Amino acid sequence: MNNRLYGNLIFELSQAGRKGYSLPANSFAHSTDEMPAVLRRQHETALPECDELTVVRHYTNLSHNNFGVNDGFYPLGSCTMKYNPIINEELAAMSTFAGLHPLQPAETCQHALALYYHLQQLLAELTGLSEFTLNPCAGAHGELTGLMVIRAYHESRGDHQRLKVLIPDSAHGTNPASAAVCGLEVVEVKSLPDGTVDVADLQRVIDSIGGENIAAMMMTNPNTLGIFEYAIPEITKIVHDCGGLMYYDGANLNPMLGVCRPGDMGFDVMHINLHKTFSTPHGGGGPGSGPVGVRQGLEQFLPVPRVVLRDDDMYDIVTDGNKTLGSIGAFFGNFGVMIKAYVYILSLGRENIKMVGPLATLNANYIKEVLKDVYELPISGLCKHEFVFDGLKDKSTGVTTMDVAKRLLDYGYHAPTIYFPLLFHESLMIEPTENESKETLDSFIDVMRRIAEEAKTNPELVKSAPHLTPIGRVDDVLAAKHPVTTFRAMQSNA
Ligand SMILES: *Cc1c(COP(=O)(O)O)cnc(C)c1O
Repeated sequence: MNNRLYGNLIFELSQAGRKGYSLPANSFAHSTDEMPAVLRRQHETALPECDELTVVRHYTNLSHNNFGVNDGFYPLGSCTMKYNPIINEELAAMSTFAGLHPLQPAETCQHALALYYHLQQLLAELTGLSEFTLNPCAGAHGELTGLMVIRAYHESRGDHQRLKVLIPDSAHGTNPASAAVCGLEVVEVKSLPDGTVDVADLQRVIDSIGGENIAAMMMTNPNTLGIFEYAIPEITKIVHDCGGLMYYDGANLNPMLGVCRPGDMGFDVMHINLHKTFSTPHGGGGPGSGPVGVRQGLEQFLPVPRVVLRDDDMYDIVTDGNKTLGSIGAFFGNFGVMIKAYVYILSLGRENIKMVGPLATLNANYIKEVLKDVYELPISGLCKHEFVFDGLKDKSTGVTTMDVAKRLLDYGYHAPTIYFPLLFHESLMIEPTENESKETLDSFIDVMRRIAEEAKTNPELVKSAPHLTPIGRVDDVLAAKHPVTTFRAMQSNA
């Protein structure tokens, strides 16, 4: 790949006069004269001039620089990068789905509305909540929608002062961001040394700000450390007793699937990331889907449009409602993601889906237990679908989590999540998902051990990794402070 031709930008491959097409001569004499001069280009375009084969090779080679679940193991904690079965893509690409127009009349797309409606029902069944909207286009978008439902609920009762949202310090960064975008104020709740919510601190915080000002508490379970929050019944009671609602961040519902349900734990509102738990590939910004579920009594606040089943067994689209918070985006959300999630759920079926959580949990615990003699395990005990190491156990080598992550690239693995959560200095967060075989986990474990060994015997090798990728170690700070994003900027830098 370090070939002179293919490491270049398409602009550098340009040769004056080279073309990728040949059109027959223009047989309409003077046709260009018909275009008014003001509309005509005044000078040459600065587009690259290349032949077709060069263009095809250029982009094919660039595509090989990508890494996805279909290339190799992708243990990116908190992101649930699970395998997307081929049947998902086949069905989502069917022209009867892919060719739909969002404005087409309900009677012409009953099959799509049926899928939409049925998926809402399946999600309600899997989570123990009453009704879902599939409209939000990402996890964070779901959080915002869910908080808007909570706000609308409090306002409908004249509780306009309920503007505080309690969020544990271990939460995903989108939680406080969504609360702020919704016009609510974030109040942090501390964690105990074992990583779970400190209930005594929660009580202290509520006493100091006043229970009558609490809009909601947002919780992630298992939390971002992969730990199950055992005090949920107690926490739910405290928050409900002061009139607040409980919000469940179910972005990674994976370990709970078929094991337990947020609705049964007393949560009022939640979101799920279909693009994590239900297999749609993501990363690079999309596409996503963050359905929001609510308990009975909150349905009327959900956004529109909604898909409903009429008495005559026809599906219909409802675009208004008395108390609805209105529209939160374009049309119905990312329908392609919903198809994949639906196919994923149905291909597993009611019995097999119960294995998702236990297998994801088993895989994570296996890696954790086998590697904890060489990597620092700050929180011991059973984890759920993911866990966090605090860097290498032997800190004397000077090899950091960043170095380990970079060295993994040389061995053909995607790096785990690093420096998140913020509770530890050298966080390295691993999530294998339920799809991986024992052989895959064992080879990853071997490589992690080898890197720990290299850190002792040849630390410079690890510190200067990666050595085998098209681009070596980049200067993160320089890249952030002086990004070179155009060809011209690159030329003037040279
Ligand atoms: C991924 C994630 C989110 C955000 O989801 P996006 O689709 O990226 O907006 C929120 N909370 C948790 C716990 C997550 O893991």
